[in-house]
Amino acid sequence: MKVIKTIPQMRDWSRQQNSNGFSIGFVPTMGYLHEGHLSLIREAKKHAQKIVVSIYVNPTQFAPGEDLDAYPRDFKRDEQLCAAEGVDAVFYPSNEEMYLPQHKTFVITEELATKLCGQSRPTHFRGVTTIVAKLFNIVQPQVAVFGQKDAQQAIIIRRMVEDLNFPVQIITAPIVREADGLAMSSRNKYLSIRERQEAVFINRSLELARKSFSSGIRDLEAIRAQMEALLQKNTSARIDYIEFTDAETLGRPMPQEAPVLLAVAAYFGKTRLIDNTILE
Ligand code: AMP
Repeated sequence: MKVIKTIPQMRDWSRQQNSNGFSIGFVPTMGYLHEGHLSLIREAKKHAQKIVVSIYVNPTQFAPGEDLDAYPRDFKRDEQLCAAEGVDAVFYPSNEEMYLPQHKTFVITEELATKLCGQSRPTHFRGVTTIVAKLFNIVQPQVAVFGQKDAQQAIIIRRMVEDLNFPVQIITAPIVREADGLAMSSRNKYLSIRERQEAVFINRSLELARKSFSSGIRDLEAIRAQMEALLQKNTSARIDYIEFTDAETLGRPMPQEAPVLLAVAAYFGKTRLIDNTILE
């Protein structure tokens, strides 16, 4: 497995693979890999012959005061995990490599970036779309895999790819959970023992919603109230949002007609966790 740190070397590697007739599958990550990330690598392998994983904690998707500096990093471990999964190349650039001091260009997906997580993180998605656009231009993959864990991100990336004509097929892979149901996240590392125990109630609140929905309840406000009550009773979490949107467009939910994305964000202490489910 090759570890590549510069843009010209990454481009050369990809060009070489393509000219040898191999397609490239790409999994962008911020590292500190867990089973969720590894599931994306396995998915990518089903769709492409050579796999690139990027490991880059992208500063432009963090606002001042967020956890950019504290974000967990362990490159050696990530490298070993990637090698064990049969990854062909890891792209591991520095900030200097990715952003010139005179950088001025951002990709913005307009109102999609202002919904859900965009409410409390107004500059987050412009950082995400910008870095993913840059990475697509550098790695030049034919296929890229994103996790349903970040449902809004996956929707935004699909929009960007279509709008800007990137020749990349986007695949979304299911959420991987811990044994007790908590969605895996590099940020789970921040949780105290008590917060970790409480955090399981995010998924329980989603399960409760799914149960209500499948029993025929279509009053989304009533479902939201049930979820809030469960979280308030069992945790000290501060709910950032519990929202229902159309699962493809992030527009108004139409529970009678189309799948609904139910997305949750909540703070456990200082740690902001997100999770979601599809109601259909
Ligand atoms: P991150 O390193 O957190 O930026 O995530 C990199 C990719 O892994 C994104 O496409 C995420 O949606 C995906 N991902 C993170 N956690 C999970 C999970 N628990 N299950 C599936 N995919 C995940």
